[in-house]
Amino acid sequence: MAAQTTTRLTKVNELGLFEIRLESIGGLGANLAGKMLAEAGVIHLGLNGSNFSSYGSEKKGSPVKTFIRYANPETNLRAVSPVEEPHVVGVFHEALFKTQNCISGLQPDGILLVNTTKTPDEIREITGLKTGTIVCVDALGIAVEEKTRVNTAMLGALCREVDFLDPKAVEFMIRETFEKKYPALVDSNIRTFERGYSEVISKTYEPEPGAKPETFVRPQPMLGYETQPIGGVIINPGNSILKDLSSSRQGFLPSFNREACIHCAACDQVCPDYCFVWAQETDAKGRVNQYLQGIDYQYCKGCQKCVEACPTEALSTLREMEGYAEQNGVKHRFNIA
Ligand code: SF4
Ligand code: SF4
Repeated sequence: MAAQTTTRLTKVNELGLFEIRLESIGGLGANLAGKMLAEAGVIHLGLNGSNFSSYGSEKKGSPVKTFIRYANPETNLRAVSPVEEPHVVGVFHEALFKTQNCISGLQPDGILLVNTTKTPDEIREITGLKTGTIVCVDALGIAVEEKTRVNTAMLGALCREVDFLDPKAVEFMIRETFEKKYPALVDSNIRTFERGYSEVISKTYEPEPGAKPETFVRPQPMLGYETQPIGGVIINPGNSILKDLSSSRQGFLPSFNREACIHCAACDQVCPDYCFVWAQETDAKGRVNQYLQGIDYQYCKGCQKCVEACPTEALSTLREMEGYAEQNGVKHRFNIA
């Protein structure tokens, strides 16, 4: 067991707590990362710590928030609410910026860690973050190469940027956790952690001279007695036009090569989300038939079932790059988005 040290927190809020919020989607391992972080703090760094996650339906692809708190040993840790004004935000999936205010409440001198191939300046442009440190790490690229998940790469990057988080303690926790359940994955996860630690790019943005720090405004509940909509009004209808599954993809999508397609429809039969777009065409002999036009990526959650089903090389798994889906997708005719 790693020796327990008596770590002191260098920065705390008015309750004496250091707080981290991880923004993720189901399947990327944020829940386990939060658990390992809190345990490393308590067991190996001598801090008080707590952790819990908040998610909707327990399935891959739905948004997940994980909260971690630390306190010095003499401070009681009694907060059990979600972390609203974190010192650190870790974003496990870049597409979350499209649907969530990931930087909500981040402290002016806080750290925003993002799994991305973009630069800190590009992330700042997207998020509008005014001050603080932006840390970028290609956690997905590392995880693909090491055949692991992004969570241990994100932990490595966190240890690099959060001064009191001793990488040895977190590494020990990763080893202990994986040895119990998946011993074959210990070494690859340790490598992923070490690469996450060493492959970060970070940049700090100082406030403009004389600028006032932004004050945190708690989002108002949607359905308080003052904001409740008139009875019978559906303010957020669920239907096939608004449905957008792009943030459910875990970094990969199917790529379509029409030249290799024999239009057998095996892909369409396994796709759970009716992503394949067909149109009637006439072939050289004058026969009318249905021909596959492509994939409507708005509905694609990246499960890759179609790639497995395709008997030719018309479908292959591709690492999703920004703009690929918009440039290469085909829209269903009923799609107005
Ligand atoms: S399974 Fe492959 S070959 Fe068959 S229609 Fe789909 S993409 Fe084309
Ligand atoms: S990966 Fe293929 S099967 Fe899965 S949702 Fe996307 S198009 Fe459908």
